[in-house]
Amino acid sequence: MGRGVATLSHATGVVYDDISWMGLIQRAVCEKCSEPYYEDETTECCDIPLVFAEYYNEDHQDWDWYVEGITDKFTTKYPSLTTTDSWDGNEVHIILENDLCEIAISDYCSLCSISIRPKENEYGHTGLADRFCRYVDIWMNEHISTLNRVGGFSDGTSCYEKKT
Ligand SMILES: [Zn+2]
Repeated sequence: MGRGVATLSHATGVVYDDISWMGLIQRAVCEKCSEPYYEDETTECCDIPLVFAEYYNEDHQDWDWYVEGITDKFTTKYPSLTTTDSWDGNEVHIILENDLCEIAISDYCSLCSISIRPKENEYGHTGLADRFCRYVDIWMNEHISTLNRVGGFSDGTSCYEKKT
């Protein structure tokens, strides 16, 4: 459960992913000498076994890796998509596009949205753009999404459940 994460304006497809794993690293501090250790470095210090616990990872590298992974999945499946770097408002980052659509990503706490919208030409949406977005939306639901939005409350809070 959490507040709704932002999506592209006029999005025709949205999927959600759980990114609560992000930013956490296993870290331990030796009780005797206070030396910090990270996962896989060692299991003991000063002849005392180290106790590893999750700490928040302050650099945002996980997010960069995550976006890179999502980008790779899309471009492998749809080679016509190329990376781009623009914003829809302050929170929604457009990361991929082709002649027919734009795909954007946004995160809020432990939630991430990936949304798609057809590009408009001077005549409005083309049937081709709408169709393409529909195909991609179906694929996103199968291959990107890990959460279903199961409901919303009037205060803007949304409810999500893990896909089984
Ligand atoms: Zn030590």
